[in-house]
Amino acid sequence: MAASAAGERRAALHGVNGTPAPFACRACSGERTAPRFVVGGFDLLRCADCGSLTTASCMAPAAAADFYGVRYFRGGDYHDYQASEGAIRANFRRFADRLAAIDAGGRLLEIGCAYGYFLAEARARWECDGVDVSPDIVDACRRRSGGRVWAGDVAALDLDRAAYRWVVAWDVVEHLDRPRACLARACELLVPGGRVAFTTGDVSSLAARALGSRWRLLTPPSHLTFFSRRGVRSLLADAGFVDVRLGTAGYARTFDFACYRLLGQSRYAVLARRLPALAAAMQRRSFYVNLGDIMFVTARKPDGH
Ligand SMILES: [Zn+2]
Repeated sequence: MAASAAGERRAALHGVNGTPAPFACRACSGERTAPRFVVGGFDLLRCADCGSLTTASCMAPAAAADFYGVRYFRGGDYHDYQASEGAIRANFRRFADRLAAIDAGGRLLEIGCAYGYFLAEARARWECDGVDVSPDIVDACRRRSGGRVWAGDVAALDLDRAAYRWVVAWDVVEHLDRPRACLARACELLVPGGRVAFTTGDVSSLAARALGSRWRLLTPPSHLTFFSRRGVRSLLADAGFVDVRLGTAGYARTFDFACYRLLGQSRYAVLARRLPALAAAMQRRSFYVNLGDIMFVTARKPDGH
């Protein structure tokens, strides 16, 4: 982001005396939040009730549709999402296996389906629908794999209620301005006994606590909430879910993804320009890692609701 844009955003968030605007915890809605870290010019507030961190910044729906367009997946949080399709689909295949071990069959809705890589892996087991905030990405997803995919906010779209066996959202809830509204909507869309599943960083994990403000997932403003385990339990209980299960998720990552995130966009560009053969080789090779700092969460909508 340009320095002036960051300055404007900070100016909009801070009063004349530099005091952060009041922000409630996005995980549990607790109002006892206090500044904990400043990362990339953004204040991260810690919730005294659940220990989650909330970025003191908002993203309007129109801004999110633009922010999470093609540029986000090529030069944003990802160096080149589409070039890493093999590694990403391997992750999603494992996620689909984990869900199928609990409940296979029926309809499944993915929130934040991007280019449809998870839907492609899930289609053999469920009748799949997808939603993404970016119209450009939804167009690309439809061209690629067809199926029912809609652009917009899941809370506002006219979707079938009490229709889905699963509603899933991989690495999405931390990006949302209103994750509590999203989970309440997910509950509404599920059949009684249906389940929600999502992944998100765990700010209460050993790695996050050891690294403090240097934890790799503290990336505002794309990440707006850094959930603790207690925060996830509050989020789900308040949305009406029971039988909450918290595990961890490992990921296959290409070497170029790891290098891009370590070096940052501009330094990675210099490396790729000087050593193109190395950059191409890093894009083809991947490794598997589970640092225990990403949660794999499932929860059930009660029967008879
Ligand atoms: Zn909280």
